[in-house]
Amino acid sequence: MQVHHHRYDAVIVGAGGAGLRAAIEVAGTCRAAVLSKLHPTRSHTGAAQGGMCAALANVEQDSAEWHTFDTVKGGDYLVDQAAARIMCAEAVDAVIELEHYGLPFNRTADGRIDQRRFGGHTRNHGEAPVRRACYSADRTGHMILQTLYQQCVKRGVTFFDELMALDVVLTDGRVAGVVAYELATGDLHVFATKGLLFATGGFGKMFKVTSNAHALTGDGPGLLFRRGIPLQDMEFFQFHPTGIYKLGILLSEAARGEGGVLRNTDGERFMERYAPTVKDLAPRDMVSRAMLTEIREGRGLGPDRDFLHLDLTHLPPEQIDAKLPDIADFVRTYQGLEPKSDLIPIQPTAHYAMGGIPTNIDAEVVIDAAGTTIPGLYAAGECACVSVHGANRLGTNSLLDIVVFGRRGGRAMADFVSEAPPPELPPDAQGEVRRRIEALLASPGGERVAVVRQQLQEQMMLEASVFRTEESLAKARGHLHELRGRYGDVAIDDKGAVFNYDLTEGLELGYLLDLAEALVVSARARTESRGAHFRDDHPTRDDATWMRHTLASRHPDGSVRLSYKPVDGGLYQPMERKY
Ligand SMILES: Cc1cc2nc3c(=O)[nH]c(=O)nc-3n(C[C@H](O)[C@H](O)[C@H](O)COP(=O)(O)OP(=O)(O)OC[C@H]3O[C@@H](n4cnc5c(N)ncnc54)[C@H](O)[C@@H]3O)c2cc1C
Repeated sequence: MQVHHHRYDAVIVGAGGAGLRAAIEVAGTCRAAVLSKLHPTRSHTGAAQGGMCAALANVEQDSAEWHTFDTVKGGDYLVDQAAARIMCAEAVDAVIELEHYGLPFNRTADGRIDQRRFGGHTRNHGEAPVRRACYSADRTGHMILQTLYQQCVKRGVTFFDELMALDVVLTDGRVAGVVAYELATGDLHVFATKGLLFATGGFGKMFKVTSNAHALTGDGPGLLFRRGIPLQDMEFFQFHPTGIYKLGILLSEAARGEGGVLRNTDGERFMERYAPTVKDLAPRDMVSRAMLTEIREGRGLGPDRDFLHLDLTHLPPEQIDAKLPDIADFVRTYQGLEPKSDLIPIQPTAHYAMGGIPTNIDAEVVIDAAGTTIPGLYAAGECACVSVHGANRLGTNSLLDIVVFGRRGGRAMADFVSEAPPPELPPDAQGEVRRRIEALLASPGGERVAVVRQQLQEQMMLEASVFRTEESLAKARGHLHELRGRYGDVAIDDKGAVFNYDLTEGLELGYLLDLAEALVVSARARTESRGAHFRDDHPTRDDATWMRHTLASRHPDGSVRLSYKPVDGGLYQPMERKY
């Protein structure tokens, strides 16, 4: 295993929307590099479909204040309100900037950026759904990713593609570097750097049915967690209502934004009962729960009565062709159905991590309730938790989050490195990574990565997904303990150095197990129901006890310990969440 040494002022890990937007900010200000385990344009941002919201008020009256209110209420009041205010205020400029970068948004007849409805986005504090999502058919994320990548290429950003970050080097309480594994050669790369920004995306791959890409294994939060950085609000994981039955592939909420509805076995539009005002456009946590309640009460479809229908048949066929072309093709390809005439079998799918690496509004990583930062360390995008999404994210708020906080983080890091002295790397900075890889390759054990991962995904789906109880979470904890033991016995068949996915998936599985444990421990402690975290045994929200964020830390003895930090409240007081 050869080791290559590099020296930069700023390194960004991850080349999705958050990493690329940060890179644009840093480009030209210092020596900077972007590492990505995928080629940048294969990042999951490219799979985002429905839209990016901003109160442009292009098609009807809207305001950043209404947007902030919806975000706070949608997040079940666990949102840090100052951060949400910033995101919603900067949204307008962020969209216009993307337009000026060349992003081909859909247009209104008079040439402005068109906007459509999405769940939880309302006019005047909940009166009715509002058109706030800017979009590019149902390929908005693809367009954002391509546009940002072009801007990076134009600015001469240095990319290290297919390098997988596996460890952070912190010395004297500040960032000194990052260690990465090169997929094409099996070599190690050690980057000495003053500033380091993580933008590694989500970790939906801990669940069996998920909309997330194969690479979304939480490496960034996972490797920081092992170095003592806490993870915030891990118990809040969003299930999106409309995943393709059994496969989990996403059919965007834009389908309902364009007028699609959900139906049970009686053909009933059941969301009218659960959310009389906004119906099918209620926030995702409420819709997913409503769907599973219908299924539990016997109103699901199919031999196992375990799915529901998405109905687009009443939409004008030309609207489906123009506004939802990709998801219509997914239905044809994966289900052999015609969305213009057939009802589409769907079920909730694990979609989005509200929790992650705790940060402040400048994307600086914070490690405790007092807001202590680690100089030079930043995080943005889905791997981070600022927290603008609180207990439940509204649709289209993530593409917004990655652009706004990618930009803020990039700017803050560029400022920081202009003043900071060069870091001191210890001589064997890569030692831990080398030992971890060698141990996996040499393991004589009898377990297989794919088998342990599948077990993890099935267990998490059964015991720690939409509905949870003390009993199910205690079981999940036990199963994770057992899986961790089996992970220690995993053997890697491929001993080669070139694109050894057996090995890299083994490394990823280690992070998934860590993050699953942080999720389960956090969820077990939170004896209330809020947003995406629903406890059958504690079905109501308990503001007196639980208006606080969870911080889960890996203790040196290996256990996960919890501490808490107050929610940054503000204008909006917690109310009952009716839609
Ligand atoms: C199917 C789908 C549809 C969605 N639709 C919408 C939508 O319409 N609107 C909306 O707002 N949100 C949507 N979301 C959510 C949103 O797309 C994501 O939250 C967001 O794009 C995440 O961006 P990111 O930059 O944080 O991470 P990603 O785009 O996931 O990028 C992560 C990057 O990190 C890199 N990386 C990971 N691990 C390592 C490592 N160890 N070393 C080096 N690099 C690493 C990867 O190579 C990649 O470049 C959707 C999500 C999915 C899955």
